[in-house]
Amino acid sequence: MSLLPGQMMQLPLLISSLITHAARHSGDTEIVSKRVEGDLHRYTWAKAELRSRKLAQALARLGCQPGDRVGTLAWNGYRHLEIYYGTSGTGLVCHTVNPRLFPDQITWIINDAADKVLCFDLNLLPLVEKLAPACTTVKHFVLLGFREQLPPETAIPNLLAYEDLIAAEDGDLAWPTFDENTASSICYTSGTTGDPKGAVYSHRSTVLHSFGAALPDSMNISSRDVVLPVVPMFHVNAWGIPYSAAMIGCKLVFPGPHLDGKSLYDLFEAEQVTFSAGVPTVWLGLLNHVQANGLKFSSFKSTVIGGAACPASMIQTLEDDFNVEVVHAWGMTELSPLGTLSRLRSKHLGLSKAEQRALLAKQGKVIYGIDMQIVNADGQVQPWDGEASGDLLVRGHWVINSYFGKANAPLRDGWFPTGDVATIDADGFMLITDRSKDVIKSGGEWISSIALENLAVAHPAVHQAAVISVAHPQWGERPLLTVVLKPGATATREDLLAFYEGKIPRWQVPNDVIFLPELPHTATGKIQKLKLREAFRNHQWSEL
Ligand code: AMP
Repeated sequence: MSLLPGQMMQLPLLISSLITHAARHSGDTEIVSKRVEGDLHRYTWAKAELRSRKLAQALARLGCQPGDRVGTLAWNGYRHLEIYYGTSGTGLVCHTVNPRLFPDQITWIINDAADKVLCFDLNLLPLVEKLAPACTTVKHFVLLGFREQLPPETAIPNLLAYEDLIAAEDGDLAWPTFDENTASSICYTSGTTGDPKGAVYSHRSTVLHSFGAALPDSMNISSRDVVLPVVPMFHVNAWGIPYSAAMIGCKLVFPGPHLDGKSLYDLFEAEQVTFSAGVPTVWLGLLNHVQANGLKFSSFKSTVIGGAACPASMIQTLEDDFNVEVVHAWGMTELSPLGTLSRLRSKHLGLSKAEQRALLAKQGKVIYGIDMQIVNADGQVQPWDGEASGDLLVRGHWVINSYFGKANAPLRDGWFPTGDVATIDADGFMLITDRSKDVIKSGGEWISSIALENLAVAHPAVHQAAVISVAHPQWGERPLLTVVLKPGATATREDLLAFYEGKIPRWQVPNDVIFLPELPHTATGKIQKLKLREAFRNHQWSEL
Protein backbone atom coordinates (compact mmCIF):
# COMPACT_ATOMS: atom_id res chain seq x y z
CA MET A 1 0.00 0.00 0.00
CA SER A 2 1.46 3.37 -0.86
CA LEU A 3 0.06 6.01 1.44
CA LEU A 4 0.28 9.69 0.63
CA PRO A 5 2.27 11.43 3.38
CA GLY A 6 0.66 14.46 5.00
CA GLN A 7 2.53 17.68 4.44
CA MET A 8 2.15 19.33 7.78
CA MET A 9 4.71 20.60 10.27
CA GLN A 10 5.63 18.13 12.96
CA LEU A 11 6.16 19.96 16.25
CA PRO A 12 6.56 17.67 19.24
CA LEU A 13 3.81 18.05 21.83
CA LEU A 14 5.99 19.33 24.68
CA ILE A 15 4.89 20.72 28.03
CA SER A 16 7.20 23.72 27.55
CA SER A 17 5.00 24.74 24.60
CA LEU A 18 2.08 25.27 27.00
CA ILE A 19 3.79 27.79 29.25
CA THR A 20 5.56 29.44 26.32
CA HIS A 21 2.14 29.94 24.74
CA ALA A 22 0.71 31.31 27.98
CA ALA A 23 3.60 33.74 28.45
CA ARG A 24 3.47 34.94 24.83
CA HIS A 25 -0.29 35.26 24.39
CA SER A 26 -1.68 35.73 27.91
CA GLY A 27 1.47 37.07 29.51
CA ASP A 28 -0.35 39.64 31.65
CA THR A 29 -3.00 37.24 32.94
CA GLU A 30 -2.73 36.73 36.68
CA ILE A 31 -1.78 33.76 38.82
CA VAL A 32 -2.79 34.35 42.44
CA SER A 33 -1.63 32.09 45.25
CA LYS A 34 -2.55 31.91 48.90
CA ARG A 35 0.77 31.07 50.46
CA VAL A 36 1.46 28.76 53.36
CA GLU A 37 2.23 31.91 55.37
CA GLY A 38 -1.37 33.09 54.77
CA ASP A 39 -0.65 36.07 52.50
CA LEU A 40 -1.55 36.39 48.81
CA HIS A 41 1.08 36.29 46.09
CA ARG A 42 0.28 37.68 42.62
CA TYR A 43 2.12 37.57 39.38
CA THR A 44 1.51 36.71 35.74
CA TRP A 45 1.99 33.85 33.29
CA ALA A 46 4.95 35.79 31.80
CA LYS A 47 6.63 35.92 35.20
CA ALA A 48 5.82 32.25 35.86
CA GLU A 49 7.49 31.25 32.62
CA LEU A 50 10.59 33.33 33.34
CA ARG A 51 10.94 31.85 36.83
CA SER A 52 10.38 28.33 35.43
CA ARG A 53 13.34 28.90 33.10
CA LYS A 54 15.43 30.12 36.04
CA LEU A 55 14.45 27.02 37.99
CA ALA A 56 15.46 24.82 35.05
CA GLN A 57 18.89 26.52 35.05
CA ALA A 58 19.20 26.07 38.82
CA LEU A 59 18.33 22.37 38.67
CA ALA A 60 20.93 21.84 35.95
CA ARG A 61 23.46 23.64 38.15
CA LEU A 62 22.60 21.22 40.97
CA GLY A 63 23.58 18.40 38.64
CA CYS A 64 20.17 17.23 37.43
CA GLN A 65 20.26 15.43 34.10
CA PRO A 66 17.36 14.71 31.73
CA GLY A 67 15.34 11.81 33.10
CA ASP A 68 16.15 12.63 36.75
CA ARG A 69 13.17 12.84 39.06
CA VAL A 70 12.48 15.96 41.12
CA GLY A 71 10.09 15.30 43.99
CA THR A 72 7.65 17.78 45.50
CA LEU A 73 5.84 17.80 48.82
CA ALA A 74 3.80 20.92 48.30
CA TRP A 75 0.33 22.46 48.21
CA ASN A 76 -1.26 24.28 45.30
CA GLY A 77 0.82 27.39 44.69
CA TYR A 78 2.89 29.33 42.17
CA ARG A 79 6.23 27.74 43.08
CA HIS A 80 4.74 24.30 42.61
CA LEU A 81 3.56 25.46 39.16
CA GLU A 82 7.10 26.59 38.35
CA ILE A 83 8.39 23.16 39.33
CA TYR A 84 5.87 21.52 36.99
CA TYR A 85 7.26 23.50 34.05
CA GLY A 86 10.86 24.03 35.18
CA THR A 87 11.43 20.27 35.47
CA SER A 88 9.49 18.80 32.52
CA GLY A 89 10.55 21.67 30.27
CA THR A 90 14.13 20.39 30.12
CA GLY A 91 13.37 16.65 30.25
CA LEU A 92 13.44 16.22 34.02
CA VAL A 93 10.51 14.38 35.57
CA CYS A 94 8.23 16.11 38.05
CA HIS A 95 7.29 13.75 40.82
CA THR A 96 4.50 15.12 43.02
CA VAL A 97 4.16 13.33 46.36
CA ASN A 98 1.13 13.52 48.62
CA PRO A 99 2.18 15.01 52.00
CA ARG A 100 -0.90 13.50 53.66
CA LEU A 101 0.37 9.95 53.24
CA PHE A 102 1.97 8.21 56.18
CA PRO A 103 5.66 9.17 56.46
CA ASP A 104 6.71 5.58 55.70
CA GLN A 105 4.70 5.60 52.49
CA ILE A 106 6.22 8.94 51.49
CA THR A 107 9.78 7.69 51.89
CA TRP A 108 8.86 4.44 50.11
CA ILE A 109 7.53 6.42 47.14
CA ILE A 110 10.47 8.85 47.05
CA ASN A 111 12.94 5.95 47.14
CA ASP A 112 11.01 3.97 44.55
CA ALA A 113 11.07 6.92 42.15
CA ALA A 114 14.72 7.60 43.15
CA ASP A 115 14.11 11.34 43.42
CA LYS A 116 17.32 13.36 43.19
CA VAL A 117 15.90 16.62 44.53
CA LEU A 118 13.04 17.13 46.96
CA CYS A 119 11.24 20.50 47.06
CA PHE A 120 8.84 21.13 49.94
CA ASP A 121 6.60 23.79 51.43
CA LEU A 122 7.53 25.62 54.61
CA ASN A 123 4.84 24.04 56.82
CA LEU A 124 6.10 20.57 55.82
CA LEU A 125 9.56 21.21 57.25
CA PRO A 126 8.92 19.06 60.38
CA LEU A 127 7.76 16.20 58.15
CA VAL A 128 10.82 16.45 55.89
CA GLU A 129 13.14 16.58 58.92
CA LYS A 130 11.68 13.23 59.91
CA LEU A 131 11.90 11.71 56.42
CA ALA A 132 15.21 13.07 55.20
CA PRO A 133 17.56 10.39 56.63
CA ALA A 134 15.53 7.62 54.93
CA CYS A 135 15.38 9.37 51.52
CA THR A 136 18.58 7.81 50.32
CA THR A 137 18.52 9.01 46.70
CA VAL A 138 17.84 12.67 47.44
CA LYS A 139 20.94 14.82 46.99
CA HIS A 140 19.33 18.23 47.53
CA PHE A 141 16.46 19.33 49.71
CA VAL A 142 14.89 22.63 48.66
CA LEU A 143 12.61 24.64 50.93
CA LEU A 144 10.04 26.57 48.87
CA GLY A 145 10.82 29.93 50.40
CA PHE A 146 13.48 32.51 51.22
CA ARG A 147 16.83 32.02 52.94
CA GLU A 148 15.48 33.78 56.05
CA GLN A 149 12.91 31.00 56.34
CA LEU A 150 15.53 28.25 56.62
CA PRO A 151 15.71 26.88 60.16
CA PRO A 152 18.91 27.88 62.05
CA GLU A 153 19.51 24.24 62.85
CA THR A 154 18.23 21.25 60.97
CA ALA A 155 18.81 17.55 60.49
CA ILE A 156 18.23 17.97 56.73
CA PRO A 157 21.51 17.77 54.81
CA ASN A 158 22.24 20.36 52.09
CA LEU A 159 19.09 22.33 52.72
CA LEU A 160 18.67 25.08 50.12
CA ALA A 161 16.21 27.96 49.75
CA TYR A 162 14.23 27.98 46.51
CA GLU A 163 14.36 31.76 46.17
CA ASP A 164 18.18 31.70 46.41
CA LEU A 165 18.27 29.23 43.53
CA ILE A 166 15.99 31.40 41.38
CA ALA A 167 17.83 34.63 42.25
CA ALA A 168 21.17 33.18 41.12
CA GLU A 169 19.97 32.60 37.54
CA ASP A 170 19.35 34.94 34.60
CA GLY A 171 16.61 32.94 32.81
CA ASP A 172 18.61 32.91 29.60
CA LEU A 173 17.55 29.41 28.60
CA ALA A 174 15.75 28.20 25.49
CA TRP A 175 13.42 25.29 26.20
CA PRO A 176 15.00 22.29 24.46
CA THR A 177 13.19 20.19 21.86
CA PHE A 178 13.02 16.42 22.34
CA ASP A 179 10.79 13.42 21.71
CA GLU A 180 7.20 14.03 22.85
CA ASN A 181 7.07 10.50 24.28
CA THR A 182 9.64 11.46 26.94
CA ALA A 183 8.44 11.11 30.55
CA SER A 184 7.22 14.40 31.99
CA SER A 185 5.86 13.53 35.42
CA ILE A 186 5.06 10.67 37.78
CA CYS A 187 2.13 10.23 40.15
CA TYR A 188 1.74 7.27 42.44
CA THR A 189 -1.65 5.65 42.92
CA SER A 190 -3.22 5.99 46.35
CA GLY A 191 -2.33 2.40 47.17
CA THR A 192 -5.41 1.43 49.18
CA THR A 193 -4.28 -2.14 48.48
CA GLY A 194 -0.64 -3.17 48.10
CA ASP A 195 2.26 -0.83 47.45
CA PRO A 196 1.60 2.38 45.52
CA LYS A 197 2.46 2.20 41.81
CA GLY A 198 3.84 5.00 39.66
CA ALA A 199 1.96 6.24 36.58
CA VAL A 200 4.53 7.85 34.27
CA TYR A 201 2.97 10.49 32.04
CA SER A 202 4.61 11.66 28.83
CA HIS A 203 4.72 15.13 27.27
CA ARG A 204 2.46 13.90 24.49
CA SER A 205 -0.12 12.33 26.83
CA THR A 206 -0.15 15.42 29.03
CA VAL A 207 -0.64 17.89 26.17
CA LEU A 208 -3.38 15.75 24.62
CA HIS A 209 -5.07 15.44 28.02
CA SER A 210 -4.96 19.25 28.32
CA PHE A 211 -6.88 19.57 25.06
CA GLY A 212 -9.39 16.94 26.17
CA ALA A 213 -9.88 18.51 29.60
CA ALA A 214 -10.66 22.00 28.32
CA LEU A 215 -13.26 20.97 25.67
CA PRO A 216 -16.83 22.32 26.00
CA ASP A 217 -18.31 18.93 26.93
CA SER A 218 -15.39 18.39 29.28
CA MET A 219 -14.35 20.98 31.89
CA ASN A 220 -15.37 23.76 29.48
CA ILE A 221 -12.89 26.37 30.66
CA SER A 222 -11.91 29.40 28.60
CA SER A 223 -9.61 32.37 28.87
CA ARG A 224 -12.48 34.32 30.46
CA ASP A 225 -12.62 31.97 33.42
CA VAL A 226 -10.97 32.37 36.79
CA VAL A 227 -9.97 28.84 37.71
CA LEU A 228 -9.28 27.62 41.24
CA PRO A 229 -8.16 23.99 41.43
CA VAL A 230 -9.06 22.70 44.89
CA VAL A 231 -7.92 19.27 43.79
CA PRO A 232 -4.29 19.12 44.93
CA MET A 233 -1.37 19.43 42.54
CA PHE A 234 -0.07 16.20 44.12
CA HIS A 235 -3.21 14.31 43.10
CA VAL A 236 -2.92 13.46 39.39
CA ASN A 237 -1.47 16.90 38.64
CA ALA A 238 -4.59 18.68 39.89
CA TRP A 239 -6.51 16.84 37.17
CA GLY A 240 -4.31 18.52 34.56
CA ILE A 241 -5.66 22.01 35.31
CA PRO A 242 -2.21 23.67 35.57
CA TYR A 243 -1.56 22.51 31.99
CA SER A 244 -5.01 23.25 30.53
CA ALA A 245 -4.98 26.69 32.17
CA ALA A 246 -1.71 27.55 30.39
CA MET A 247 -3.11 26.26 27.11
CA ILE A 248 -6.15 28.53 27.32
CA GLY A 249 -4.43 31.39 29.17
CA CYS A 250 -6.94 31.86 32.00
CA LYS A 251 -6.40 33.37 35.44
CA LEU A 252 -5.40 30.75 38.01
CA VAL A 253 -6.01 30.95 41.74
CA PHE A 254 -4.20 28.57 44.09
CA PRO A 255 -5.54 28.02 47.62
CA GLY A 256 -2.33 26.71 49.25
CA PRO A 257 -3.05 24.42 52.19
CA HIS A 258 -6.13 26.47 53.22
CA LEU A 259 -9.00 24.23 52.12
CA ASP A 260 -11.54 24.81 54.91
CA GLY A 261 -14.94 26.21 53.90
CA LYS A 262 -14.30 29.78 55.08
CA SER A 263 -10.85 30.14 53.50
CA LEU A 264 -12.13 28.78 50.20
CA TYR A 265 -15.25 30.94 50.19
CA ASP A 266 -13.28 34.11 50.97
CA LEU A 267 -10.80 33.35 48.17
CA PHE A 268 -13.59 32.52 45.69
CA GLU A 269 -15.18 35.89 46.39
CA ALA A 270 -12.01 38.01 46.56
CA GLU A 271 -10.67 36.68 43.26
CA GLN A 272 -14.07 36.22 41.57
CA VAL A 273 -13.51 32.55 40.83
CA THR A 274 -15.82 31.17 38.11
CA PHE A 275 -14.69 27.54 37.90
CA SER A 276 -13.33 25.01 40.37
CA ALA A 277 -12.73 21.29 40.66
CA GLY A 278 -12.37 18.90 43.57
CA VAL A 279 -13.49 15.77 45.39
CA PRO A 280 -16.93 15.63 47.07
CA THR A 281 -15.55 15.94 50.64
CA VAL A 282 -14.13 19.41 49.94
CA TRP A 283 -17.49 20.68 48.75
CA LEU A 284 -19.09 19.38 51.93
CA GLY A 285 -16.92 21.78 53.93
CA LEU A 286 -17.60 24.70 51.59
CA LEU A 287 -21.34 24.03 51.52
CA ASN A 288 -21.52 23.77 55.32
CA HIS A 289 -19.83 27.17 55.60
CA VAL A 290 -22.05 28.99 53.09
CA GLN A 291 -25.23 27.37 54.40
CA ALA A 292 -24.41 28.06 58.06
CA ASN A 293 -23.69 31.72 57.31
CA GLY A 294 -26.46 32.38 54.76
CA LEU A 295 -23.91 33.24 52.05
CA LYS A 296 -24.17 33.20 48.23
CA PHE A 297 -21.52 33.02 45.53
CA SER A 298 -21.20 36.13 43.36
CA SER A 299 -19.04 34.68 40.56
CA PHE A 300 -18.79 30.89 40.99
CA LYS A 301 -20.59 29.32 38.00
CA SER A 302 -19.39 25.79 37.45
CA THR A 303 -17.53 22.96 39.11
CA VAL A 304 -16.26 19.53 38.20
CA ILE A 305 -16.66 17.03 41.03
CA GLY A 306 -15.01 13.63 40.87
CA GLY A 307 -12.45 11.33 42.45
CA ALA A 308 -15.32 9.65 44.33
CA ALA A 309 -19.02 9.38 43.58
CA CYS A 310 -20.74 12.75 43.89
CA PRO A 311 -24.07 12.27 45.71
CA ALA A 312 -27.13 13.47 43.75
CA SER A 313 -28.09 15.55 46.80
CA MET A 314 -24.86 17.56 46.50
CA ILE A 315 -25.47 18.24 42.81
CA GLN A 316 -28.99 19.36 43.63
CA THR A 317 -27.97 21.70 46.47
CA LEU A 318 -25.22 23.38 44.46
CA GLU A 319 -27.50 23.88 41.48
CA ASP A 320 -30.80 24.76 43.15
CA ASP A 321 -29.58 26.79 46.10
CA PHE A 322 -26.38 28.30 44.70
CA ASN A 323 -26.82 28.32 40.92
CA VAL A 324 -23.55 26.43 40.46
CA GLU A 325 -23.48 23.94 37.60
CA VAL A 326 -22.04 20.59 38.74
CA VAL A 327 -20.31 18.33 36.26
CA HIS A 328 -19.77 14.88 37.70
CA ALA A 329 -16.57 13.31 36.38
CA TRP A 330 -14.80 9.99 36.67
CA GLY A 331 -11.13 9.31 36.25
CA MET A 332 -8.09 7.78 37.85
CA THR A 333 -4.36 8.28 38.27
CA GLU A 334 -3.72 5.81 35.45
CA LEU A 335 -5.82 8.03 33.11
CA SER A 336 -4.06 11.35 33.79
CA PRO A 337 -6.96 11.40 35.16
CA LEU A 338 -9.97 12.35 32.98
CA GLY A 339 -12.14 9.60 31.54
CA THR A 340 -15.80 10.60 31.58
CA LEU A 341 -17.91 13.63 32.42
CA SER A 342 -21.65 13.96 32.73
CA ARG A 343 -23.22 16.66 30.58
CA LEU A 344 -26.58 16.62 28.85
CA ARG A 345 -26.77 16.31 25.07
CA SER A 346 -29.39 18.23 23.09
CA LYS A 347 -31.59 15.13 22.96
CA HIS A 348 -31.83 15.24 26.76
CA LEU A 349 -33.02 18.81 27.02
CA GLY A 350 -36.68 17.80 26.69
CA LEU A 351 -36.47 15.33 29.58
CA SER A 352 -38.05 16.09 32.94
CA LYS A 353 -35.82 17.67 35.58
CA ALA A 354 -35.79 14.36 37.51
CA GLU A 355 -34.68 12.42 34.42
CA GLN A 356 -31.98 14.97 33.66
CA ARG A 357 -30.78 14.82 37.26
CA ALA A 358 -30.57 11.03 37.09
CA LEU A 359 -28.30 11.31 34.05
CA LEU A 360 -26.17 14.04 35.60
CA ALA A 361 -25.62 11.92 38.70
CA LYS A 362 -23.95 9.26 36.53
CA GLN A 363 -20.22 9.45 35.83
CA GLY A 364 -21.00 10.36 32.22
CA LYS A 365 -19.68 9.98 28.71
CA VAL A 366 -16.10 9.56 27.56
CA ILE A 367 -14.33 12.47 25.94
CA TYR A 368 -12.43 12.05 22.68
CA GLY A 369 -9.12 10.41 23.45
CA ILE A 370 -10.63 7.73 25.69
CA ASP A 371 -12.77 4.73 24.84
CA MET A 372 -14.43 2.32 27.28
CA GLN A 373 -16.23 -1.00 27.46
CA ILE A 374 -17.61 -3.29 30.16
CA VAL A 375 -16.93 -7.02 30.26
CA ASN A 376 -18.22 -9.89 32.39
CA ALA A 377 -16.07 -12.33 34.37
CA ASP A 378 -15.39 -14.32 31.17
CA GLY A 379 -14.19 -11.22 29.36
CA GLN A 380 -17.30 -10.99 27.18
CA VAL A 381 -18.28 -7.48 26.18
CA GLN A 382 -21.55 -6.45 27.85
CA PRO A 383 -24.35 -4.45 26.19
CA TRP A 384 -24.89 -0.73 26.74
CA ASP A 385 -28.40 -1.04 28.15
CA GLY A 386 -27.97 0.58 31.56
CA GLU A 387 -28.68 -2.81 33.17
CA ALA A 388 -25.76 -5.15 32.47
CA SER A 389 -22.81 -4.38 34.69
CA GLY A 390 -19.23 -5.45 34.21
CA ASP A 391 -15.59 -4.63 34.74
CA LEU A 392 -14.83 -1.26 33.20
CA LEU A 393 -11.94 -1.29 30.71
CA VAL A 394 -10.50 1.80 29.04
CA ARG A 395 -7.91 2.71 26.46
CA GLY A 396 -6.72 5.96 24.98
CA HIS A 397 -4.03 8.55 24.44
CA TRP A 398 -3.58 9.33 28.13
CA VAL A 399 -3.96 5.88 29.68
CA ILE A 400 -0.86 4.12 31.06
CA ASN A 401 0.45 0.96 29.40
CA SER A 402 2.62 -0.09 32.37
CA TYR A 403 3.70 1.12 35.81
CA PHE A 404 7.03 2.71 36.70
CA GLY A 405 9.71 0.07 37.07
CA LYS A 406 7.28 -2.80 36.50
CA ALA A 407 7.83 -5.12 33.59
CA ASN A 408 4.45 -6.83 33.52
CA ALA A 409 1.84 -4.71 31.77
CA PRO A 410 -1.56 -4.61 33.45
CA LEU A 411 -3.39 -4.46 30.09
CA ARG A 412 -5.99 -7.00 28.90
CA ASP A 413 -5.94 -7.22 25.09
CA GLY A 414 -4.82 -3.61 24.89
CA TRP A 415 -7.39 -2.36 27.41
CA PHE A 416 -6.61 -1.10 30.92
CA PRO A 417 -8.74 -2.77 33.64
CA THR A 418 -9.84 0.06 35.91
CA GLY A 419 -10.92 -2.10 38.85
CA ASP A 420 -14.30 -0.33 38.73
CA VAL A 421 -17.60 -2.03 38.03
CA ALA A 422 -20.03 -0.07 35.86
CA THR A 423 -23.11 -0.03 33.68
CA ILE A 424 -23.32 1.97 30.45
CA ASP A 425 -26.68 3.10 29.08
CA ALA A 426 -27.77 3.32 25.46
CA ASP A 427 -26.64 6.97 25.30
CA GLY A 428 -23.16 6.02 26.51
CA PHE A 429 -23.56 7.37 30.06
CA MET A 430 -21.44 5.27 32.39
CA LEU A 431 -22.45 4.67 36.00
CA ILE A 432 -19.89 3.35 38.48
CA THR A 433 -21.62 0.93 40.78
CA ASP A 434 -18.57 -0.18 42.76
CA ARG A 435 -14.87 -0.82 42.96
CA SER A 436 -14.62 -4.48 41.98
CA LYS A 437 -13.37 -5.33 45.46
CA ASP A 438 -16.23 -3.42 47.13
CA VAL A 439 -19.20 -5.05 45.40
CA ILE A 440 -21.81 -6.77 47.54
CA LYS A 441 -23.14 -10.05 46.25
CA SER A 442 -26.32 -10.98 48.07
CA GLY A 443 -28.05 -14.23 47.17
CA GLY A 444 -26.32 -14.15 43.80
CA GLU A 445 -27.48 -10.58 43.01
CA TRP A 446 -25.22 -7.53 42.93
CA ILE A 447 -25.99 -4.57 45.16
CA SER A 448 -24.31 -1.24 44.46
CA SER A 449 -22.70 0.15 47.61
CA ILE A 450 -22.39 3.55 45.94
CA ALA A 451 -26.15 3.71 45.26
CA LEU A 452 -26.83 2.95 48.94
CA GLU A 453 -24.33 5.57 50.10
CA ASN A 454 -25.78 8.24 47.82
CA LEU A 455 -29.23 7.66 49.26
CA ALA A 456 -27.96 7.68 52.85
CA VAL A 457 -26.23 11.07 52.52
CA ALA A 458 -29.50 12.57 51.26
CA HIS A 459 -30.89 12.02 54.80
CA PRO A 460 -30.78 15.38 56.60
CA ALA A 461 -28.96 13.96 59.65
CA VAL A 462 -26.22 12.16 57.74
CA HIS A 463 -22.84 13.78 57.15
CA GLN A 464 -21.01 10.84 55.51
CA ALA A 465 -21.85 7.24 54.69
CA ALA A 466 -20.05 4.12 53.55
CA VAL A 467 -21.65 0.80 52.77
CA ILE A 468 -19.58 -2.36 53.03
CA SER A 469 -20.14 -5.98 52.32
CA VAL A 470 -20.20 -8.30 55.36
CA ALA A 471 -20.52 -12.08 55.30
CA HIS A 472 -24.02 -13.34 55.99
CA PRO A 473 -24.90 -17.01 56.71
CA GLN A 474 -28.01 -16.99 54.55
CA TRP A 475 -27.26 -14.56 51.73
CA GLY A 476 -23.51 -14.89 51.37
CA GLU A 477 -23.03 -11.14 51.82
CA ARG A 478 -25.25 -8.30 52.97
CA PRO A 479 -24.77 -4.51 52.99
CA LEU A 480 -23.82 -2.82 56.27
CA LEU A 481 -24.32 0.94 56.43
CA THR A 482 -21.73 2.93 58.42
CA VAL A 483 -22.54 6.60 58.99
CA VAL A 484 -21.24 9.75 60.57
CA LEU A 485 -24.05 12.06 61.67
CA LYS A 486 -23.91 15.85 61.24
CA PRO A 487 -22.87 17.71 64.42
CA GLY A 488 -25.86 17.94 66.75
CA ALA A 489 -28.09 15.78 64.52
CA THR A 490 -29.81 12.62 65.71
CA ALA A 491 -31.16 9.60 63.85
CA THR A 492 -31.76 6.00 64.83
CA ARG A 493 -30.94 2.81 62.97
CA GLU A 494 -34.67 2.48 62.17
CA ASP A 495 -34.89 6.09 60.85
CA LEU A 496 -32.05 5.49 58.42
CA LEU A 497 -33.30 2.13 57.21
CA ALA A 498 -36.83 3.52 56.77
CA PHE A 499 -35.34 6.29 54.63
CA TYR A 500 -34.56 3.70 51.93
CA GLU A 501 -38.18 2.57 51.70
CA GLY A 502 -39.73 3.15 48.31
CA LYS A 503 -36.42 4.32 46.85
CA ILE A 504 -34.84 0.92 46.16
CA PRO A 505 -36.08 -2.69 46.18
CA ARG A 506 -36.50 -3.97 49.73
CA TRP A 507 -33.89 -6.70 49.35
CA GLN A 508 -31.20 -4.09 48.69
CA VAL A 509 -31.81 -2.13 51.92
CA PRO A 510 -28.82 -2.53 54.31
CA ASN A 511 -29.43 -4.96 57.16
CA ASP A 512 -27.82 -2.84 59.81
CA VAL A 513 -26.39 0.58 60.65
CA ILE A 514 -23.22 1.41 62.56
CA PHE A 515 -22.77 4.97 63.86
CA LEU A 516 -19.17 6.15 63.87
CA PRO A 517 -17.49 9.41 64.98
CA GLU A 518 -15.58 9.48 61.67
CA LEU A 519 -14.84 7.32 58.64
CA PRO A 520 -11.30 6.25 57.75
CA HIS A 521 -10.06 8.19 54.72
CA THR A 522 -7.06 7.75 52.45
CA ALA A 523 -4.73 10.68 51.98
CA THR A 524 -6.58 11.57 48.79
CA GLY A 525 -9.95 11.80 50.51
CA LYS A 526 -11.36 8.41 49.56
CA ILE A 527 -13.11 6.34 52.19
CA GLN A 528 -11.00 3.32 53.15
CA LYS A 529 -13.54 0.56 52.84
CA LEU A 530 -10.83 -2.04 53.35
CA LYS A 531 -10.34 -0.72 56.90
CA LEU A 532 -14.09 -0.71 57.52
CA ARG A 533 -14.41 -4.25 56.19
CA GLU A 534 -11.62 -5.37 58.51
CA ALA A 535 -13.20 -3.61 61.50
CA PHE A 536 -16.65 -5.10 60.93
CA ARG A 537 -15.67 -8.46 59.46
CA ASN A 538 -17.30 -10.27 62.38
CA HIS A 539 -20.35 -8.05 62.63
CA GLN A 540 -23.25 -9.93 64.21
CA TRP A 541 -26.40 -9.31 62.22
CA SER A 542 -29.30 -8.53 64.55
CA GLU A 543 -31.90 -10.27 62.36
CA LEU A 544 -31.15 -13.42 60.48
P1 AMP B 1 -7.32 7.74 41.97
O1 AMP B 1 -6.42 7.05 41.05
O2 AMP B 1 -6.77 7.88 43.35
O3 AMP B 1 -7.78 9.06 41.42
O4 AMP B 1 -8.61 6.82 42.15
C1 AMP B 1 -9.36 6.41 41.05
C2 AMP B 1 -10.60 5.71 41.51
O5 AMP B 1 -11.47 6.61 42.21
C3 AMP B 1 -11.45 5.18 40.38
O6 AMP B 1 -10.98 3.96 39.88
C4 AMP B 1 -12.80 5.05 41.06
O7 AMP B 1 -12.90 3.88 41.84
C5 AMP B 1 -12.82 6.25 41.99
N1 AMP B 1 -13.54 7.36 41.36
C6 AMP B 1 -13.03 8.42 40.71
N2 AMP B 1 -14.01 9.24 40.30
C7 AMP B 1 -15.17 8.68 40.68
C8 AMP B 1 -16.55 9.04 40.55
N3 AMP B 1 -16.94 10.15 39.97
N4 AMP B 1 -17.46 8.18 41.06
C9 AMP B 1 -17.10 7.03 41.67
N5 AMP B 1 -15.82 6.65 41.84
C10 AMP B 1 -14.88 7.46 41.35
